[in-house]
Parts: sequence; C-alpha cells; structure tokens
Amino acid sequence: MAHCFLQVALDTPLNSCFDYRWSCEPGQEPLVGQLVLVPFARREVVGLIVAVKQDTEVPLDKLKDAIAVRSQLAPLPERWIALAQFAADYYQRPLGEVALPGLPKNLRVPKTVALDRALKKLAKDDSAHDPTPSSMPVLNPAQQEAANSIGGAQGFTPLLLYGVTGSGKTEVYLQACAQVLGRDRDAQILILVPEINLTPQLEGNIRARFPGVMLATLHSSLSEGERMLHWLAAHEGRARIVLGTRLAILSSLPNLKLIVIDEEHDPSYKQQEGLRYSARDLAVWRAHQLGIPIVLGSATPSLETWHHAQSGRYRKLELRERAVRDAVLPTVKLVDMERDRPKDGLTGSLIAALRGRLDRGEQSLLFLNRRGYAPVICCDACGWISNCTRCTAFMVLHRPEHRLRCHHCSLELRIPRHCPTCGNVDLQPLGRGTQRIEEGLAAMFPEARILRIDADSTRLKGSAQEAFDSVHRGEVDILVGTQMVAKGHDFKKLTLVGILNPDTALFSQDYRASERLFAQLMQVAGRAGRAGAASEVLVQTRYASHPLYGAVVRHDYDRFAASLLEERRQAGLPPFMYQALLRAEAPELATAIAFLEAARDSLVFDAVMINDPIPMTMTRVHNVDRAQLLVESASRPALQAFLREWVEILRAMKSRVRWSLEVDPLDI
Ligand SMILES: [Zn+2]
Ligand SMILES: [Zn+2]
Repeated sequence: MAHCFLQVALDTPLNSCFDYRWSCEPGQEPLVGQLVLVPFARREVVGLIVAVKQDTEVPLDKLKDAIAVRSQLAPLPERWIALAQFAADYYQRPLGEVALPGLPKNLRVPKTVALDRALKKLAKDDSAHDPTPSSMPVLNPAQQEAANSIGGAQGFTPLLLYGVTGSGKTEVYLQACAQVLGRDRDAQILILVPEINLTPQLEGNIRARFPGVMLATLHSSLSEGERMLHWLAAHEGRARIVLGTRLAILSSLPNLKLIVIDEEHDPSYKQQEGLRYSARDLAVWRAHQLGIPIVLGSATPSLETWHHAQSGRYRKLELRERAVRDAVLPTVKLVDMERDRPKDGLTGSLIAALRGRLDRGEQSLLFLNRRGYAPVICCDACGWISNCTRCTAFMVLHRPEHRLRCHHCSLELRIPRHCPTCGNVDLQPLGRGTQRIEEGLAAMFPEARILRIDADSTRLKGSAQEAFDSVHRGEVDILVGTQMVAKGHDFKKLTLVGILNPDTALFSQDYRASERLFAQLMQVAGRAGRAGAASEVLVQTRYASHPLYGAVVRHDYDRFAASLLEERRQAGLPPFMYQALLRAEAPELATAIAFLEAARDSLVFDAVMINDPIPMTMTRVHNVDRAQLLVESASRPALQAFLREWVEILRAMKSRVRWSLEVDPLDI
C-alpha cells in the first residue's frame, strides 16, 4: 500500500491547513474538493482537501492518518474553493473558517448517516425537469427591455435594475430566468433576498411560474435535514433555481449562469459576526470569476452600486413607472409636529387619514422602528431612569409582558413597583414603541382590527408568515410594525402609510445613517398604492424643512444620491475611500484602548492612514467595553497589502483582548 499526503483545511481560527497521511493505491488518490474525516486535537473533525501531494514537510512521526474520505459526495468544484480562498484573503480569515462553516452541519459530523440518507432521497427524485414557465405575463416596454438585457447578457455583465417600488422587478427577474433556463438545459440561477420573511412570497411565485424546475431554498430557518437536502440539490446541479439569504452566496453551484440580488442596498447582506463578509460583494466577484451576468435590483441602490452605474462600470436598467396599470407612486406629505401636536403619538392629520381609510374599508400601515412599549421608564421625583446595569443602554419597557428588557444583552427584569432610588411609586414611560402605539390606536379606534408585527409579536416559528397572510387576506385594518413590514411585501389594499418618529437618524454620527433612512422611508412608502388605488404617505417630523425629507416627497433618489456622493467625495469617505475597522473588547475600556494603541503603532505603511482608537458609541455591552480603530486608504490594493501584514502582527501580539477585523465596515 502506498501513501499520499492530504493538505486539509480545518475550521480553526489560526492556522487553517494541516497535512495528513492517507494509504491508497497509486492512481486512486482522493480528489481536491472532497471532504475528509481527520483526527484533530483529540477530536474527529471534517475538513476539506485542498491539495493531494506525494511529499510533506511535516516530520513523519508528527503526521497523523486521515480517517475516512467522503467519496460518496462529489468534490466541491475548484472554482468554489477559489471563491472561498478569495473571501478568506479579502476578509483576512483562514480558508477553513470560510469554507467549512458554510456547509450544512450534517456534512461536518463524523457520522455519514444523514449524508447517505439525503443522497438516497435525492437519487429517488426523478421529477421531470421542464423549464417551461406556466405563464408569461405581458411586460411593459421598460420591463421587457430589462428582462431581455439580463436574459441575453453574455459574459461578466453587472447590471443595476433601478426600479421604483412596485415597478415589477420580480417579474423582470422571472422572465430573465425563463430565458436563461430555456436556453441552457443545465443552467443554475442564484437569487438572493435580504430577509427570510420575504422568501415565502417569492418562493411561491417561482414555484408557480416554473412547476417543472427544482427549486432549492437556503436560509437560516431551515431544519438541518432540509438544509442538507437543499444544499445537496444545488451541489449536484439538480436544483436549477436556488433562492436564499446571504449565506447562500457560499453554496456550491456547478452550473451557475446568472445571479440576481434583490434589494441589493439592504444592510442584511452584510454578515455582522465571524466572517464579516458582504454577500453582494462576493456575488459580484463570483459572477466575474465565472464570466456570467449579475443583476443588482433596488429602488434605492447603495451609493457604491450607484457610483459604479454612474461611472459606466455597471449597466443601468431603469423602471420609472409602476407596473400595475394606473398605479402611481403615493403622494408623500410631511406633517410638521411643531404645528400639529401629536396625541398618543399620532398627529391630527394622521388620525383623520386613518379614519378615512377605516370608513372606506382600506388598509393602513404605521411604521415605527422601535419595538416595546416605551424605550425607557423614569422617576420624575429623583431623575432615576431605567439604565441597563450591563450596557450603555436603556432597559426597554415591555408592558404586555410586564418586563423591562435590554435589547443588547437580553437582561430581563420585572417592572419595578417603585423607584429603586427614592421609592416613588409613580414611574413614567418616556417615548413610544410599537406596543404603545398599538394601545393608543385601540383606544382611539375600538372598531378597527389592529395588528402589530415586530420581533416580539413574531417570536414563534411561522407566526410572522401567519401575520402577513392575515394582512393579505384583508383581516387587518391597521398594521403597526417595525422594519419587518417595510420590505418587499405587496399589500394590495394598503393606501395609507404613516411614518412615526424618523427624525433621530438625521443626527446620527454614522455617515451612512441618512442613506439608510432615505432607503427605509422610500421602501416603507412604497408599500402603499401598489394595486392602483390613490394612496398617501404621511411623515410625522419636527424637521419638515430637512433636504432628506424634501427628496422623499419628490421621490427623487437620483438627486439625493448625487448630493450624498458629492459629500462623500469631499469628506473622503466610501466609495471614494476603502476602510477597515479593528475592534477590541475588554472588561475595562483602558485595556481595549491600550491594545488598539499598540496595534496602531505596530506598522507604518505607504498610502494607508491609521486613526486613533476611540470608544464605540455604545461602549459597554454585557459588561464588556468596546473600542475601535479605523484604517483608511484611497487604494484597495494598498489597504489589502497592509492588512495582510498587520493581521500577522496582531496575532503575534497574543493579547488577551478579544479583537476582530472588519473589511468594508457598514457601521462606524
Ligand atoms: Zn426616584
Ligand atoms: Zn444590557
């Protein structure tokens, strides 16, 4: 029996590749891309074979034998490994930490029972594969042109599908998909959406349109068994359409021919822990690697994407009108809260508008991005307020649950009967969350059917879908919700949107806050009037003359984006500058800052600017203090070269401070 040596990537934070010995006949060696079970640190773990060699530099007495090669599974394609390697290099993480966590859990356990069962189940599936769509609704000329441009694109072609809310972007995607599937009998298409709660609607549309095509879905609320089946269906090329959230960008798709990213501006495409990748950015790289078209769809594109479209690097396709005949964009009105003083959080104008909708049997949506009853309770007698003892944050009052909750560390307390400092029994809620708005509405409109949709009301699996279904069935008159209700949903009877209290974001320190607020307002406003009825949006504000609101009233993304881009250019901010953020956490702020100062002084580099460490805006979370250090460069290659060296130095510092590095950070 001869030997070969396998270089195996493992999911470990430091060194990610290790050599193992494997006994086999010559010519029978395992393949790159196969999974293998190996001993590691007194455990048995599954790794990815990244090289098969005849020699190794590891001394033979230190070398361990691999235990089993998962030969029943087709190897992961080399192009997929190259994608993982690119992500690892770009985000400064070991390959194994990128490649392995994205695989279904059941593939990474020592036993193969689940894998074998799933493979057997898939092999039995002999459903017909007929890409013919069930129907092809007639498109308006702009939609048709967009669908043809996408469906007919050859080679690497990044396209921005810039379409106002309700302009029928989904139909454009579906018809472009039909063209690609009809032309190439093996083609696979990847469609990414920002939220799990948006997939059921789109999933239903795709299934109805392509009844003969296998569809796989990949998102975090699937069971492990489902996830394994769907992942395998994609990996084996059986699933022709894969619909998923950001994690699906790392799925194995041997015949990928088109990528669609819906709502490309959405921040949830960015993973915020572990490997902090942008699924949108990786998707563009993947399309480039494979030489295929990629569509980025949005009514309010990210400034990065808009900038590429303006400079001609991305091709811009425009849908300026709503798809449904006679449907026009809602009229947006600003309600000046200085003149029209609110009662229970609602101005007279908004109350009158709600009354009108109730009388006509139409639906209304009130949008407030703050869950709970009130963001804080306080004592008028001594000034005590409900601070979290572990965070730089307030404990939020959740009245129906009789609890104070910290939304950052999940600390929960019963509502105190009296002030902990002075004993005063008259504690007051300050401000309003969705629960309090719901309560006020119920008192004001006792005959109305009111439904609240937020993270609290939809904690149980399936309850969000149930809630949205009841809105679609017309069983709700007034819907109160957070950002969960802002995206994607097509509520046919909705003719009024009220936006409560958006002002705080106007004065945020985060330079992206206004871009995000604008996108959010346009999104939520876009829920109204999609089926054709005249509709209006009322924005309650204390800053009615702010230019951002002016742009919302005019539905003028173009000019707003142009002015923001000009501001960013002058201030030296992305997309004109590339950034990375080093964060440190320690029980004492001084420790975190000291680590960052040492990091700052550890390397000097041409064309890269290292700023001074600062505490994060929310400094303390769960008894840990947090600080950050921003690194900037006008050159992406310079920043990447710097980061490669820097990460090695930081690892060698062996500090006990917990640190993480984020490339292209979204929140600063
Ligand atoms: Zn008090
Ligand atoms: Zn807390």
